[in-house]
Amino acid sequence: MADYNAPLKDMKLTLNHVARMPELAQKPGFEDASADMVDAILEEAARVARDVVGPTNVEGDQQGVQLKDGTVICPESFKGAYQQYAEGGWGSLQFDPEYGGQGLPFLLSVPVMEMWHSANMAWGLCPMLSQGAVECLDLNGSDELKAKYLPQLVSGEWTGTMNLTESNAGSDLSVVRAKAEPEGDHYRISGEKIFITWGDHEMAENIIHLVLARLPDAPPGVRGISLFLVPKFMVNEDGSLGERNSAGPLSVEHKMGIHASATCVMGFDNAIGYLVGEPNRGLACMFTMMNNARLSVGLQGVSISERAYQQALEYAFERIQGPAVGTREAGPIIRHADVRRMLMTMKTLTEAGRAIAYDACGSLDFAVKAESDEEKAVEQARAALLTPIVKGWCTEIAQEVTSLGVQIHGGMGYIEETGAAQHYRDARILPIYEGTNGIQALDLVGRKTLMDKGEALAALIAEMRESLKRCDASLTSLAKPVEEAVAGLESARELLLKGAETDELLPGSIAYNFMMLAGYVCGGWQLLRQADAAVRLTAEGDDDPYLQAKQESARFYMAQVLPRWKGFSEMLNDGSQSIMALPEELFASAWQ
Ligand SMILES: Cc1cc2nc3c(=O)[nH]c(=O)nc-3n(C[C@H](O)[C@H](O)[C@H](O)COP(=O)(O)OP(=O)(O)OC[C@H]3O[C@@H](n4cnc5c(N)ncnc54)[C@H](O)[C@@H]3O)c2cc1C
Repeated sequence: MADYNAPLKDMKLTLNHVARMPELAQKPGFEDASADMVDAILEEAARVARDVVGPTNVEGDQQGVQLKDGTVICPESFKGAYQQYAEGGWGSLQFDPEYGGQGLPFLLSVPVMEMWHSANMAWGLCPMLSQGAVECLDLNGSDELKAKYLPQLVSGEWTGTMNLTESNAGSDLSVVRAKAEPEGDHYRISGEKIFITWGDHEMAENIIHLVLARLPDAPPGVRGISLFLVPKFMVNEDGSLGERNSAGPLSVEHKMGIHASATCVMGFDNAIGYLVGEPNRGLACMFTMMNNARLSVGLQGVSISERAYQQALEYAFERIQGPAVGTREAGPIIRHADVRRMLMTMKTLTEAGRAIAYDACGSLDFAVKAESDEEKAVEQARAALLTPIVKGWCTEIAQEVTSLGVQIHGGMGYIEETGAAQHYRDARILPIYEGTNGIQALDLVGRKTLMDKGEALAALIAEMRESLKRCDASLTSLAKPVEEAVAGLESARELLLKGAETDELLPGSIAYNFMMLAGYVCGGWQLLRQADAAVRLTAEGDDDPYLQAKQESARFYMAQVLPRWKGFSEMLNDGSQSIMALPEELFASAWQ
């Protein structure tokens, strides 16, 4: 497998010219996020990702995890990598200094997270879930819980998990059955959770599980679910670890990919837990964690796409096959037009996804630092609208990108030893967990568009048009297709708002196509912004070839990827009748 090298130039251009990092660094409290500091952090993270985490990827895939005597054993190299991660303070970048965090913008942690997931996605899931747990506890926990658990979670000494799913409750959490009985100052939690990522391991001293369960008098449905903190080991008043709690893994799943991420069936047998937030408000509390996780999963789509691209590119330079048109001698396959088409599709989808993801994450920081309620609401709505696009679109494109990675390797792509197949297998989980992409699409059309009568989407479209106006004159030929695509997105918005008034089945029927359309348009817009930045930097005297490459990325995307929006737009006109009117027997009519 090719080594992973963080695409630092693209990350920095995206931070600075898309996600508004320099503006963020002017905000009170973020003064430390100077350009020099950002560079230093990214460069050191790139080194750790390449030299420490990256080399664990293949071993992890081959060894997987095992459950032995009630404990999950992960590959030997994972523990050392995790120790270096924790000791380097990598998990604390964006958190509150009161709990040992470094108080830096969340946005700065985003490229760093991207690097961990590119280096080893299965491993990166552990820090990712811990970060979600910190956010959830920070926003919803009592002062006492925060003081007792946050410092070690922030430092990475302990890790966190998210226990939502049960065998009967996946997309529909309203039917969660785990129970919580009050007992003195705590609760007794009983039940079984499935598919819990890093539900157990030995990389850290303790694991803090955040668990959804029902109180005895809870009303049915989502309004009767509460959130509990359940430690693996009890924590004494002085912070030392006490007895093992009766919460632990019952088995580990054998999966198609991310073999080294422990996916556990978890048993809670009268385990001691503590209420987080208000009773019956558990799902709302968990939503902070889920929103963070949705952006992170979208980012994983970018990460695995980047890794697959680097792998395919290396192979395209090494693999010698027949002469390309215009030459007589055999040469590397990168000389063939179709291989170049595949590489550029991989590269530009990845770059577009990165820009959409970073931009959405930046809005979360701007919301926190907003100077007025109005500004806060605008940034929050922007991030909320972009979240299902980041999760849905970036993980859908990861399927295509990792599949192209296999294709570029030809037969060797289908053989495990090149590593291309691992990226493809690892990426397959992304459209499923953290709310399937079907659920993301429904979120985009429902909560994020119909609920505010399309206001946030109208604001995003207006923002896109502003970018078009400001774009350098030399980019007119690239701006034109974006302008047309933005108009297509506007028509889709109108179709949704109007159609939903008379046809309640329409939003669900068009949701996926709507999400994909929005993703491709956002990608075109972001690549145009980046190309514009590249033109300006070049004019200022920066002669880095990367800036030329960025303009070529935008050109390729506008010509060969962006036009896909038209297909999705046409499919919206199919409405709800053709799918929803189908009798269920018809699906199997060919053999029944
Ligand atoms: C490797 C892995 C790791 C995971 N990690 C965690 C974890 O750490 N914590 C945790 O709590 N869970 C975790 N999960 C669970 C994961 O979030 C769920 O699998 C996911 O939410 C889907 O639920 P489900 O599997 O029950 O599928 P279902 O809900 O049964 O969905 C099946 C299909 O029906 C569709 N569908 C269902 N309902 C609707 C609807 N209302 N509208 C439209 N389509 C619908 C879905 O899109 C999907 O295509 C993990 C799962 C895996 C495989």
